[in-house]
Amino acid sequence: MKLIILGAPGAGKGTQAAILSQRLGIPAVSTGNILRSAVKDGTEVGRKAKEYMDAGHLVPDEVIIDIVAQRLAQPDCAGGFILDGVPRTIAQAEALEQAGVAFDNVLSLEITDQEIEARMAGRRFCHSCGASYHVENAPPRVPGVCDQCGGKLEQREDDKPETVKRRLEVYHAETEPLKDFYARRGVLCPVENQPTIEATTQAVLAALKS
Ligand code: AMP
Repeated sequence: MKLIILGAPGAGKGTQAAILSQRLGIPAVSTGNILRSAVKDGTEVGRKAKEYMDAGHLVPDEVIIDIVAQRLAQPDCAGGFILDGVPRTIAQAEALEQAGVAFDNVLSLEITDQEIEARMAGRRFCHSCGASYHVENAPPRVPGVCDQCGGKLEQREDDKPETVKRRLEVYHAETEPLKDFYARRGVLCPVENQPTIEATTQAVLAALKS
């Protein structure tokens, strides 16, 4: 099964992708996580990407298209995968099509900008393994410490309020048109935001079955 999870920054794409990955037994591929680890490791891609990311802009398409092609060529993606945070532009979606990748479902997590702004303020991520948490909705067992690896939890530079506003503008201008793109291909499944993570997962699973 090949899935895309679309949605505004902070809509819960990473959280739902991780849950679906476990339930469906296919890897979640997050370009945001790949880029953050490249930044941390100081690779050439990381150096190129950092200033775009910190400013809330998109990293150039050619960088992303390369990263995704390399990741999808790994053996664990042979039986399917879930894309989280990619494609984010029509050019990225067209590159996937040109590479012969066809999707069974494109889940679009629907949430208002106001809800996003409130939610991003509490979001934390693990500096070591990339796992994500929320201080109220999905807290770690020990405040500030990753349940999975014991790493330190931090707020992402790009989750600060002024950057969140810019990322929402970028989302509406560059990424939202992908909904029409995939609706025309008959694979778009909108999923309304739910009050809890589990309720959203149930709505996602129901959308996948329908
Ligand atoms: P995310 O964790 O998906 O919210 O991504 C964090 C940041 O990484 C974004 O704000 C962009 O700067 C960059 N990024 C991640 N995925 C992409 C993508 N598919 N295209 C362009 N930039 C991306």
